[in-house]
Amino acid sequence: MIVLGIESSCDETGVALYNTAPWESGQPASLGILGQGLHSQVAMHRDYGGVVPELASRDHIRRVLPLLDQSLTEASLKLGDIDAVAYTQGPGLAGALLVGSAFAKSLAQGLKIPTIGVHHLEGHLLSPLLGPSAPQFPFVALLVSGGHTQLMLVKDIGQYELLGETVDDAAGEAFDKTAKLLGLDYPGGAALSALAEKGQTGRFDLPRPMLHSGDFDFSFSGLKTAVLNQVKQFEAKHITNADEVAQFHADLARGFVEALVAVLLRKSEKAIEQTGCQDLVLAGGVAANKQLRNALNASALKHGFSVHYPPIALCTDNGVMIAFAGALRMLQENNAATQSGSFDVKPRWDLVNA
Ligand code: ATP
Ligand code: MG
Ligand code: FE
Repeated sequence: MIVLGIESSCDETGVALYNTAPWESGQPASLGILGQGLHSQVAMHRDYGGVVPELASRDHIRRVLPLLDQSLTEASLKLGDIDAVAYTQGPGLAGALLVGSAFAKSLAQGLKIPTIGVHHLEGHLLSPLLGPSAPQFPFVALLVSGGHTQLMLVKDIGQYELLGETVDDAAGEAFDKTAKLLGLDYPGGAALSALAEKGQTGRFDLPRPMLHSGDFDFSFSGLKTAVLNQVKQFEAKHITNADEVAQFHADLARGFVEALVAVLLRKSEKAIEQTGCQDLVLAGGVAANKQLRNALNASALKHGFSVHYPPIALCTDNGVMIAFAGALRMLQENNAATQSGSFDVKPRWDLVNA
């Protein structure tokens, strides 16, 4: 079965073609990726310091058809070879989701094939199965993206139990807001991570929020405020030496990353301990983060569990994870895909009840 995936929940237009045959015969899931196209709108939104919903929707419309052509060419396939269309149904920006939904449904109607609405976070959550080492069910998933930070117990495809989540900012959001405080362009997560590499450890002892809260919840807004306070104190000194300013930023970035990673690490270890799972998966944009990967790898080695990641390119939003999640749902439940023609999106949607 060839599934076309369409992602348009926020500021990336992603299109991909996925063949389920390798997965069905027990081969690595990544062999099913036949073609893909991705356009990030990051440069367009940068001047505004964040995503402008109306501009996002319009750009998805402009990009989606050329990306489909690109994917078909890469896969050496024709439209008639597609068996089903999976699209991101939610959560996300309503207008942006409507572009993907309208496109998917119209194309499917024309081709007389079924569609399946996919939960964006399920796309992120299952993407580690496309990585070099696949986890075994049940596993614990640490989902760290721009809009979410959750620890999940994944019993099977479609069976998700929420262990805990952030009560305020998401990890990616904390990265981006802190990056902005340190003068980095939006979205500054990756740049902040690189800056932290140049910093000294221990100069700033930042709070590790909810480290000992006894549950699996997170809070990152206080950490960001602690960074802001340090920035204000430093600015009050009116230091003009460029090297000193650069070192301050790098050291503070280091302190921020270490605090955030410490909390994510400890809670993930506890989730592994408490559930008795052998496998931990990391998913979402922050799964690309080097310091977090290093910390989890070291812990896994020490405590005897395994960690699995999506390929770096599939950590942030993309069409492959949507095609893949839609395909797995269709294989699992025979009637998961429908012929319905209505453009139904769910801007707010809880994965546990999806
Ligand atoms: P959601 O999936 O919750 O709806 P989203 O789709 O906007 O949110 P993703 O695309 O999964 O989020 O991830 C984007 C986030 O990942 C941004 O906040 C970005 O800064 C962050 N990010 C990407 N690479 C890195 C990195 N190397 N280190 C830290 N953060 C990173
Ligand atoms: Mg994005
Ligand atoms: Fe996402």
